[in-house]
Amino acid sequence: MTEPTKVADDVTKVFDTILVLDFGSQYSHLIVRRLREIKVYAEMLPCTQKISELKFKPIGIILSGGPYSVYEEGAPHVDPSIFDLNVPILGICYGMQEIAWINGKGVSRGDKREYGPAILNVTDKECPLFKGMDNSRVWMSHHDKLTELPSGFKTVATTSNSPYAGVSDETKQIYGIQFHPEVTHTVQGKQLLQNFAVDICKAPQNWTMENFIENAIERIRATVGPTAEAIGAVSGGVDSSVAAKLMREAIGDRFHAIFVDNGLMRKDEAIQVKKALDDGLGINLVVVDAGDEFLTNLKGVTDPEKKRKVIGHTFIHVFERVANQIKPKDGSDVGFLLQGTLYPDVIESISFKGPSQTIKSHHNVGGLIDNMQLKLIEPLRELFKDEVRHLGELLGLPEELVWRHPFPGPGIGIRVLGEVTPKQVQIAREADYIFISEIRKAGLYRQISQAFACLLPVKSVGVMGDQRMYEQVIALRAIETVDFMTADWFVFDAAFLKRVASRIVNEVTGVSRVTYDITSKPPATVEWE
Ligand code: GLN
Repeated sequence: MTEPTKVADDVTKVFDTILVLDFGSQYSHLIVRRLREIKVYAEMLPCTQKISELKFKPIGIILSGGPYSVYEEGAPHVDPSIFDLNVPILGICYGMQEIAWINGKGVSRGDKREYGPAILNVTDKECPLFKGMDNSRVWMSHHDKLTELPSGFKTVATTSNSPYAGVSDETKQIYGIQFHPEVTHTVQGKQLLQNFAVDICKAPQNWTMENFIENAIERIRATVGPTAEAIGAVSGGVDSSVAAKLMREAIGDRFHAIFVDNGLMRKDEAIQVKKALDDGLGINLVVVDAGDEFLTNLKGVTDPEKKRKVIGHTFIHVFERVANQIKPKDGSDVGFLLQGTLYPDVIESISFKGPSQTIKSHHNVGGLIDNMQLKLIEPLRELFKDEVRHLGELLGLPEELVWRHPFPGPGIGIRVLGEVTPKQVQIAREADYIFISEIRKAGLYRQISQAFACLLPVKSVGVMGDQRMYEQVIALRAIETVDFMTADWFVFDAAFLKRVASRIVNEVTGVSRVTYDITSKPPATVEWE
């Protein structure tokens, strides 16, 4: 037998980590993103993090921007012991002002707000932070400014408006910049972050999904132990499928995936999910056909929030019932519940939202854990969506699964406006199928972030084969987005829309009219309910 691999219980023990302390800027998560893109592992914590309570020793620290002013009463301040860790520090905007405030209080409100592009002039060509950079466009977003150099610092870069666009104390390896390197408007921003992480902090650039996999599997084994079993819901989406495949690799048949067919899935989806996970990936899968139960509970419910609640509760009910029937071979209880939580959810729950913040905790199936006394296992907690997709490819998931558009838990239940009846679900499902098939045929599926058909319970007059029709309306929605926080509608060519509309009216009984939703988010949301 081979020696067991040494297992770390935390990613930070395997990958050298840069710590990003968040002061509440809307861009903070992008700092983490950019570092991951250059294969450097980074994690974000709120700026109020006590250094003595850190679970790992970072190889460098980045202080983010933030909406406050360092000199204000109640402004957030970093634990000053970051300066005793003897690791390189980079302050961005508020982060730089914070460094200056701690080292001499030379910060005050500037005469004018600076928002937008500026040209960076690197005045100290030797400064390692600006290696390979000069005269490029940087993005500014501030009102406060440094009024003098913090003690021990020198100026290394300027812009026409900011005499202290970059400052450094090279003996202590502390750097501050007034602009935002994490946004793409800063042309060489990634270069700067790479200079900091790789050259200054000596990050090994080993954060790859290839490296992640092996350790993730070992960590699951260590967490679950040699005999316990785990359960988890799968939906056919990329997150739950990747998480399930990791569990399967780690503990084989001791992981039980439960797929609840709520009768609100897309056409043929339940069959496809079963085929991909069970036959394709060898995951120990239980499929529960609970469509009738969901539809019965939805009878007479028209309010969108109420619908979501009914669907959520029914799901928990069904899941628990099935999970309780799963008995480990040794007669013990199932010990773990798998959840496909991703890093953006984690960030959302820990990011700094100001003195009055109430920390939002994220629970998808929170109720389940209380009732069933299961321990939560979240193997994707450190990953962004694109990292999960890459992981899925490495784990051999079919392309269709890896790149599947997101699909809400309540499914077609919130795409049939008004009351959800079997007949209405059927109409929405058929129309959706035609729309998605045509999108695939046109080679647009990957370009579009999400697309679907909605059934509006509004009657509209039409004529077909000399017959007067008085039927319902289908609204098509297709959006493009990077992060789903904001989105724009997808511009199809007219011939495509014509084709889809004519197929839907001709092939789906009960539809007399098709419209295309041309609203961006905001103000509209992606889903209609
Ligand atoms: N509130 C500070 C300022 O106005 C910092 C802004 C920021 O970090 N983007 O300068």
